[in-house]
Amino acid sequence: MYRLGIDLGGTNIALGLVDETRNVILKDSMPTCLPQSPEMLAGRIGEFAMKTLEKAGISSDEIEAGGIGIPGTVDPESGVVEYANNLGMIHVPFLKMLQEYFPFPMFGSNDAKAAAWGEYLAGAGRGASSMVMETLGTGIGGAMIVEGKMIDGFQYGAGEIGHMVIRRNGKTCTCGRRGCLEAYASAAALSASGRQAAKKNPGSLLAVKCGGRPERVDGKMVFEAAGEGDEAAERVLSGFIGYLAEGTANLINILQPEVFCIGGGLSGAGEALLAPLREAVKPLIYSREAEKTTRIVCASLGNDAGILGAALYQRGVK
Ligand SMILES: [Zn+2]
Repeated sequence: MYRLGIDLGGTNIALGLVDETRNVILKDSMPTCLPQSPEMLAGRIGEFAMKTLEKAGISSDEIEAGGIGIPGTVDPESGVVEYANNLGMIHVPFLKMLQEYFPFPMFGSNDAKAAAWGEYLAGAGRGASSMVMETLGTGIGGAMIVEGKMIDGFQYGAGEIGHMVIRRNGKTCTCGRRGCLEAYASAAALSASGRQAAKKNPGSLLAVKCGGRPERVDGKMVFEAAGEGDEAAERVLSGFIGYLAEGTANLINILQPEVFCIGGGLSGAGEALLAPLREAVKPLIYSREAEKTTRIVCASLGNDAGILGAALYQRGVK
């Protein structure tokens, strides 16, 4: 038997078929095409999924269940999307709409939680009892899995780790609060500091890398320039790592997960990110002298995490 996983993003809809050994054996994607009504979106997803299965010669009898990760607050019990800003949904019974197109049961969850669940079961967190996922993108997303259970919150809004304040009266965050981790340690925040540094230091390697156009600087360039010894980029990176370490250490002190997993595009930097982060986090950990401490690692499944997690999350398959 297979499971179907769908990752509904603001730009693309990716889907995949997951086999019993938790491998994604078939993948396809199509553009999301926003804005559009929830009814129409459900219809397009349903038709796309069923057509993909048909093309692959897989009958719906071979599929146990399907799941979809949605960028918003989702009540996995009722299948109601309480709030999904990008999709324009407020209190929409989206799973009910979607179910009409599928002959097997469909479940829904938040996309970041689904991706974390995928990493937990089949990626960087495999075999661990508990894991925190911190996804560095435009914002900072997250999920906390404690002793095999996703921490959802009573209205499924838990896990907003990017909106933990690390600096009182600090920079204004997109959420309206000031000093959130997201305002200092997201991929977007790293790019913004990199741009400033390139502008201020026209002779730096960072400024050379962006062709003298600071607006082109991104996180990857900052890592590259710092790796080659550029002082301006090193300063930006060490500031960024310092803030990221504060947030990471707070979460480790509260939950003491076995694995702390960093996801998102910046996790591609691998050890260039992990080594200084581990060093910065260590003195901030309350139980730093313990024999075993939380392992800080990067996500390993890339885009497959969202598909796998959506396919396996809803019924708590472990
Ligand atoms: Zn915030």
